[in-house]
Amino acid sequence: MSDKPLTGRARADRQPHSLAAWRGLGGYAALMQALKRHSPEAVIAMVEAAGLRGRGGAGFPTANKWRFMRSGAEKAGPGPRYLCVNGDETEPGSFKDRLLMEALPHQLIEGALIAAYAIGATEVIILVRDEYRAAATALTRAIAEAEGAGLLGRDILGSGFDLTMRVHASAGRYIVGEETALIAALEGERPVPRHRPPYPAVSGLWGRPTTVNNVETLSAVPSIIENGADWYRSLARSEEGGTKLYGVSGCVTRPQLIEAPMGTTARELLELCGGIRNERSLFAFQPGGGATAFLETADLDVPLDFAHTKKAGSSLGTGALIVLDDHACPVAAIGRHMRFYARESCGLCTPCRDGLPWVAKLLDTLEAGNGTRGDIELLHQHVALSGPSGRSYCDLNTGALTPLRSGLERFGDIFTAHLAGHCPVGR
Ligand code: NAD
Repeated sequence: MSDKPLTGRARADRQPHSLAAWRGLGGYAALMQALKRHSPEAVIAMVEAAGLRGRGGAGFPTANKWRFMRSGAEKAGPGPRYLCVNGDETEPGSFKDRLLMEALPHQLIEGALIAAYAIGATEVIILVRDEYRAAATALTRAIAEAEGAGLLGRDILGSGFDLTMRVHASAGRYIVGEETALIAALEGERPVPRHRPPYPAVSGLWGRPTTVNNVETLSAVPSIIENGADWYRSLARSEEGGTKLYGVSGCVTRPQLIEAPMGTTARELLELCGGIRNERSLFAFQPGGGATAFLETADLDVPLDFAHTKKAGSSLGTGALIVLDDHACPVAAIGRHMRFYARESCGLCTPCRDGLPWVAKLLDTLEAGNGTRGDIELLHQHVALSGPSGRSYCDLNTGALTPLRSGLERFGDIFTAHLAGHCPVGR
């Protein structure tokens, strides 16, 4: 595996790259190519051939989403059309978008410009999680630099293409990252997900055609346009094109963000992180953030792409590997997740508002060694009653219960061992 940046022109440094530094590295050449040499449809075709899938967690093919937008815009007729950049990263374990926005703001701006050209957007709004102050500052400064250089505004690079771009700070809730809740938040409404269809491509921000793309997805676009779809595809080890930013945290020697070929295995990522810390061994890992199912040692060689991770019984999600060693109690780990999701529940529906705090309390009781067999039975019943859909209005409850469902399936004996009054593995 290369230790050089694969798709970016530069390693992410502590200081954000200025426009001059970004241009010095060949930045904005892809934008120039797109505007001068390619039609919007040709840009979409390149992104399709590259196999780019959305990096926000769902893995939806980016080119399909962009085509939906073009047909939505045709039906909607003249008027504003929006590209919203989802920088409201709040999934436990995920920190990839923060680093991209803080260190390489011009890469994201260039990607958003090319995407806006491809889908016919008139305005880009980058919604940044409120706690990500450094990211918002870096992006605001970079947008001003781009405006000053004629890369934003009217008749960009003499192409006749007009675009404005601005940063909007999120009010700070997990659910704002869901695309329809994000749109509601931008409209000044309570950020509660809206029913789809209509998809935002048809009726999004203020009822106008809108595309919501994740920061990592758009940051990959300039390199695809500049180097071609075949080049991007060839970087991957799997059918799914390109590279992935894997963020490894938890019980590893050096937690870090790694850009690696799509389909890299957890074994390789752990090696790059110096292995499990304190010479302990791996117990389990979540491959894609707090709301993904656990995998174990037997899954270390699963290629971490969307298809293979799903086949192994989990999901790639945001590529945020949360690692537990053999001293880390899974009941405690699941309880921590549960407290987070319980706090983030908007309170609209009962299984989420009342169910999650109740599950968190049961897990705390079990972890403290005060649980009963009946408590474990209740956890099983709650998961079964919630079903695969969470039986709630949006997906927060479904995602939140995923580690519990998977923990009960995989580590049922450890839950039971807590009934003896102590944790068999925890510190
Ligand atoms: P989804 O599969 O329903 O949709 C994905 C995207 O494809 C959306 O933009 C949607 O508009 C578009 N789409 C899907 N079908 C379409 C159609 N028929 N027509 C037009 N557009 C269509 O997934 P989702 O609910 O948007 O996202 C869920 C994912 O978000 C989960 O996998 C989870 O991992 C992830 N997530 C990420 C974070 C984070 O911090 N990055 C936080 C929470 C959840």
